[in-house]
Amino acid sequence: MNKMLIPPQFNQLHVPDFAFGEVEAMIKTAKAEALAINDQARAKDLWISETIIKIHQYHRRAFQHLLQKAYYKAWCEFESIENYLSELKVHFIYDKRSYHLWHIEKSLYQFQILYPYRLFVAADVIKSKKICSTCNQEVQIHQLCEHEEGEIYKGEICKRISVNKEMTNTRMMDNPRHKYNVAFFRDEEQFENADAYDYRVIEEFVKQIKDPYQAWELEVEEKTRKPEAYAHLSRNQACRCGSGKAFMHCCMPKIGEKYPQYHCILKNSREFQKKSKFL
Ligand SMILES: [Zn+2]
Ligand SMILES: [Zn+2]
Repeated sequence: MNKMLIPPQFNQLHVPDFAFGEVEAMIKTAKAEALAINDQARAKDLWISETIIKIHQYHRRAFQHLLQKAYYKAWCEFESIENYLSELKVHFIYDKRSYHLWHIEKSLYQFQILYPYRLFVAADVIKSKKICSTCNQEVQIHQLCEHEEGEIYKGEICKRISVNKEMTNTRMMDNPRHKYNVAFFRDEEQFENADAYDYRVIEEFVKQIKDPYQAWELEVEEKTRKPEAYAHLSRNQACRCGSGKAFMHCCMPKIGEKYPQYHCILKNSREFQKKSKFL
């Protein structure tokens, strides 16, 4: 691990604010030096360092966006982290002591569960031409280049880049390969996508967690909407769930249904646990 170029602060309990630009520049210089003497192993270690630092940047940015209630932006950043982590895993095994990666991965999956997004747009693509990012040659099933997708060459990851894409149609689905394309309603007057999703659960969690490096756990409990709890409400009264809507347009049709209740469990270094619950 001594070949890595990651500042030791990245392994502290709470990673301090960091001059990411400086670290990136340092890695870039070291990589150029390694490539000058054709040290591929060193260049690969530097790619690993670079990717870990990028993951931290996205993680902090996503958390910042959650605090600012820019929920869709944070969602896309979580998706980017997921992609970086899956590329990284092939070349670097990490555990609970490796630069918070364990925590970052766990918290992103937990946040994804708390998001209200359930439908995504997926596109069917035909006639796509694929280019190898390492040699820039076209690759086809019977015409491969010497590079393997996902491998590190000259300190860069090898990807297959699709060009000349032609979309045939789009579909709605609940488990897409890429989660960026969230289905939004269109505001017919503004001709803009209107974000009508309810982010109250995430908002409450973020208030509790406060810091991107705070360890936390999500517990989901299955509850039933019992009629007794709503017995005192008339149809037009404000619903007890706090949505601001009238009871009959909110929880009334859902009585008897099951729903998840989310618990946020905060953990600190002494494994102190604080439990809060949110509807
Ligand atoms: Zn190639
Ligand atoms: Zn309600």
